[in-house]
Amino acid sequence: MILIDGKKAAAELREELRKEVIELKDKHNRVPGLTVILIGDLTPSQIYVRNKEKSAKEVGLNSEVVKYPDTVEERVILDKIDELNKEDSVSGILVQLPLPKHIDKKKIIEAIDPAKDVDGFHPMNVGNLSSGYESSVPCTPLGCYLLIKQIEPKLSGKKAVIVGRSNLNGKPMTQLLLKENCTVTITHSKTKDLKAECLEADILVAAVGIPELVKGDWVKKDAIVIDVGINKTDKGIVGDVAFDEVSKKAKALTPVPGGVGPMTIACLLKNTVECFKRSQL
Ligand code: NAP
Repeated sequence: MILIDGKKAAAELREELRKEVIELKDKHNRVPGLTVILIGDLTPSQIYVRNKEKSAKEVGLNSEVVKYPDTVEERVILDKIDELNKEDSVSGILVQLPLPKHIDKKKIIEAIDPAKDVDGFHPMNVGNLSSGYESSVPCTPLGCYLLIKQIEPKLSGKKAVIVGRSNLNGKPMTQLLLKENCTVTITHSKTKDLKAECLEADILVAAVGIPELVKGDWVKKDAIVIDVGINKTDKGIVGDVAFDEVSKKAKALTPVPGGVGPMTIACLLKNTVECFKRSQL
């Protein structure tokens, strides 16, 4: 079984981006810039944002974090986004989720210029992705896709099953694999026989948030299995896939931690570089 090393893949992607940023600086006399807006003091969000800032600096991007207390008015955030949309030195804008209850997530996402939407959440980018046009793609599914391609470059005709239909993970994952001519089934909490659906998969992506939901006897022999889940349990962080059982069946499997997670931030940097390049055309 191939243990898919997300840390290594992410380090390789960051190194590619670091070299590309040097070339872009030579060509355009400036580097891509990423601005992250962080509202409130939720510890996980603070950790994510710190890691994003550190990684962005490592690859040579201009990186800025704008912080607000969780009592900040929605209007203040919308005005800031408007200012960043107009600012040439800012290639990518990310508003760290979740937001305080009084701030409307939809309004915030829609305020970001789609050309600077490095999270790929703006309806324009969602539509472009599903229409097969160029777009920013949400970072976690993009990371999963790159890991799958490393294992299996020829995806055409493969049967892919996605467990979970969130806008963040399941739906964009479906679009990416459809674009590769996979036959894709997307499953969710109302799916009648999840095990039977999973057993059909050459490529199985689990993005559910239920610890070790996908068991060994749900997986076809030699399937590629991508585990997006991050679940805190008594035995530590586990994924949505029962690792020990599934590793006996799968051809390749991502561990948790150390699989999909590290690719998410690397893909955010990739999206920032892509937004910069498109803005220079
Ligand atoms: P989410 O928005 O809660 O969506 C979960 C999806 O799973 C929903 O579509 C839900 O179906 C489906 N589901 C729930 N119970 C199910 C069941 N028993 N059988 C089949 N499907 C079921 O979650 P998310 O944001 O996509 O996150 C999923 C997991 O990925 C979480 O553990 C999260 O922490 C992790 N995550 C990891 C990364 C990373 O970088 N590795 C990034 C983001 C998220 P319905 O639509 O019918 O409710």
